[in-house]
Amino acid sequence: MQTASAAPMPIPGHIDPVPVPRALKPRADGRIDLLGLSKLDLRMALETSQLEPKQAKLRAKQLWHWIYNRGVTDFSLMTDISKTMQPWLAQRFVISRPEVIEAQVSTDGTRKWLLRSDDGQDYEMVFIPDADRGTLCVSSQVGCTLNCRFCHTGTMRLVRNLEPGEIVGQVMLARDALGEWPSQPDGRMLTNIVMMGMGEPLYNFDNVRDALRIVMDGDGLALSKRRITLSTSGVVPMMERAGEEIGVNLAVSLHAVTKEVRDEIVPLNRKFGIEELLQACADYPGANNARRITFEYVMLKDKNDSDDDARELVRLIKQYKLPAKVNLIPFNPWPGAPYECSTPERIRAFQEIVFGAGISAPARTPRGRDIDAACGQLKTAAEKKSRAELDRLAEEKQAALG
Ligand code: SAH
Ligand code: SF4
Repeated sequence: MQTASAAPMPIPGHIDPVPVPRALKPRADGRIDLLGLSKLDLRMALETSQLEPKQAKLRAKQLWHWIYNRGVTDFSLMTDISKTMQPWLAQRFVISRPEVIEAQVSTDGTRKWLLRSDDGQDYEMVFIPDADRGTLCVSSQVGCTLNCRFCHTGTMRLVRNLEPGEIVGQVMLARDALGEWPSQPDGRMLTNIVMMGMGEPLYNFDNVRDALRIVMDGDGLALSKRRITLSTSGVVPMMERAGEEIGVNLAVSLHAVTKEVRDEIVPLNRKFGIEELLQACADYPGANNARRITFEYVMLKDKNDSDDDARELVRLIKQYKLPAKVNLIPFNPWPGAPYECSTPERIRAFQEIVFGAGISAPARTPRGRDIDAACGQLKTAAEKKSRAELDRLAEEKQAALG
């Protein structure tokens, strides 16, 4: 006779992967940078340096608090760590910040920082203060491979993913500059984060996820996921994971409602089309009427700004039953840009159609244009054109000749 097995039945569904520590890369001076390590990796870094597991656990907890709650970078200021332990830590570890090459302030109060990585790559972050909030616009890559035609970043030649420490480092630096340590829940200037700086965050998924998890951790920076927005140009295969593993608000750079126009201005559309993208939005975990998906729509004169475009936008949003709001972004010009911004009257007419259909459609006021800090103006000194940009120019020249 067979007895029923006592082993639990396997439950189908999502299984959390066992966290695997990252390989720790020492810096040129042999020390390990603790900024950007997950809680587990921080503990492993201490264990690898021969601390007893129990000690390592305790020290990791203390360090986490000093690093992300107090903003301390100097081990000798960590008062609950013994005077003998402090130099031991300083010999083996550092708590870094990105190097600031230039800091600029716009006439409207927007601030832009040009940052440089250890290997000499430049990237930017922007802080946009408002009456009731302050938003930090964070970069996820140096440059961007996607080459949207209206975006300056897309013309950069150099592209590299930013590491978690370089992404979190932007938030740390902003907090330093605003004098917002220790981290407190109320009355802070930096209240929101948007992953809308340089780069496509879903092409650097693991690092962006790991960085945002640190930013959201309640024992440290403690920014709520409701105050963080990730913007994607439409990397459909990664959108579900973004919802599940990061869970922040989603913004989608739609910018056009026909295949012809979107293919031209957001070339990624040739890979993942509008229908597929909107279906992925409809399936985005966590989207509902209280947490709507933002559709970004850059207003380009005579390109995507007609009444018909506005009506089609409404139709699509309704067809896919999307809890949506639309952000109308006046095109921000940059030297050599192939488009112009729509007129204010056109933007208003477009807005009225969308709004008239019951969809919120604020037109953004451009911020920081005078210091090239506005959407799509970010581009560092790497002036040379990207391969994709050169190919496109060659293609255009051919077409003009033939
Ligand atoms: N790569 C991501 C996030 C960074 S771009 C994405 O594309 O969504 C942030 C926003 O600025 C996007 O909606 C982008 O389309 C928009 N943008 C890019 N260039 C612009 C420009 N010149 N004027 C106005 N908005 C622009
Ligand atoms: Fe990259 Fe976004 Fe610029 Fe497109 S708009 S080139 S995806 S940064």
